[in-house]
Amino acid sequence: MASGVLGVATPEEIAKYEPVIGLEVHVQLNTRTKIFCGCPTGFGAPPNTNVCPVCLGLPGALPVLNGRALEMAIQAALAMQCAVNSFSRFARKNYFYPDLPKGYQISQYDQPLAEHGELEITVEGAKKVIGVTRVHLEDDAGKSIHDGFKDSDRYTYVDLNRSGTPLIEIVSEPDLRSSEEAYQYLSELKQVMQYVGVSECDMEKGQLRCDANVSVRLKGAEKFGTKAEVKNLNSFRFAKLALDYEIARQVAVLESGGRVEQETRSYNVSGETVGMRSKEHAHDYRYFPEPDLAPLRVGEAWLGHIREAMPELPREKRRKFETGYALTSYQVQVLTATQSVSAYFEKATEISGDPAGTANWVITELMGLPDGFEKVSPEGTGTLVRKINEREISGKMAKDIFAKMVETGRSPQEIIDSEGLRQISDTGALEKIVDEVIAGNPKQVEQYKSGKATVLGYLVGQVMKASKGQANPAAVNELLKVKLGFEKT
Ligand code: ADP
Ligand code: ZN
Ligand code: MG
Repeated sequence: MASGVLGVATPEEIAKYEPVIGLEVHVQLNTRTKIFCGCPTGFGAPPNTNVCPVCLGLPGALPVLNGRALEMAIQAALAMQCAVNSFSRFARKNYFYPDLPKGYQISQYDQPLAEHGELEITVEGAKKVIGVTRVHLEDDAGKSIHDGFKDSDRYTYVDLNRSGTPLIEIVSEPDLRSSEEAYQYLSELKQVMQYVGVSECDMEKGQLRCDANVSVRLKGAEKFGTKAEVKNLNSFRFAKLALDYEIARQVAVLESGGRVEQETRSYNVSGETVGMRSKEHAHDYRYFPEPDLAPLRVGEAWLGHIREAMPELPREKRRKFETGYALTSYQVQVLTATQSVSAYFEKATEISGDPAGTANWVITELMGLPDGFEKVSPEGTGTLVRKINEREISGKMAKDIFAKMVETGRSPQEIIDSEGLRQISDTGALEKIVDEVIAGNPKQVEQYKSGKATVLGYLVGQVMKASKGQANPAAVNELLKVKLGFEKT
């Protein structure tokens, strides 16, 4: 697909190969303060105002671990089914960059916080489990700003507000086999982080950053090919496009008899990846244990508490909605998209007792409204669906009542009471109207009796009209048939 556009390799050539992809994702934890000092983490403050000696990297300043950051990292790790190590430690990753005043990043290396996890993705209706190699904690660097300031053509500015923001790095196994799978993995990862409440993963605010490792191999080959790492992917869509491009590029290199270089590439605005540098290796960073921080010990008791307080995760919700509630896969997807939508739906269903009816109402009526979820309570929605099912109100009345619920915030019962909107189901009241309609439409009654069944619809409509929409259509149907001498007596 990409090749057609790019002219890098033909679809036939690409089809001979299988892509292998592993992602390294950085997620910013939404703590109030930074990971090793008390500075606020807020986004958008004037440059270099949320800083102190620790996050400025001044000599002699000592880091103190933010307990909440550790707790969130553990929550994230558990949400991805990782084993949390009872013992882990921080390591210095040494490199030079203007936005890194310490000269090193505090990260984790040989003994990470958590390992051996997984995320479940759905591609073309089929579920697939992607391994999560490790989850570790680290601090973020500052930001180099290349434009928007006086003399930006000659100077680069450095803002250290972001320096020391807590991050987790989530490294996947090379289990992904297409750009679409990579896209789904990122979506699932983001959804899981949002469910556990550790990050909004807003890419525009830099809360989620992704590097993609990609190689290709001939289909059927066992050995992985040489990988390139693509950086600078600032949306899920771009990540997918960059992968498609990079896959096609590697195929073209191999097809022309060349070799893929192990290197770091950057995705640029024209939709291509370009070589940045040959890949750095772990030994280039001179990792060593961080001497200013004690090793991390996560006790069983604390871990148990965190585990117990974990909310239900997207995959658990999906299972429940699919099997317990028998919803369609489309409904499941929509209703588990965010934690708050799924909680709303469950609450409403508890009251309605009808998952399918509630799903339908939430998706078609509520989601079509701006702020629908804020304006109508789950109790309101659940009650409305129940009243339809119990034939207390008709579908048409429900829509009117719903519009008033949105407008006034009142409950369905209040609206029904104050507007006298009850559906007429009791036979006595209906019978009177039905008799009048039969008496007033002799021609149609004759036609019906002589076998023109479709006329019944007309007669039902007349009754509905006479009752100002409050008659129960099903009851009217039945009653008319009885009166006209067909079926039950
Ligand atoms: P490195 O030591 O080069 O950093 P790692 O083994 O640590 O490589 O893996 C880094 C990331 O690259 C992981 O997400 C992993 O799944 C992925 N990866 C490893 N080998 C390959 C490969 N041959 N093709 C694609 N991705 C790979
Ligand atoms: Zn600070
Ligand atoms: Mg590595």
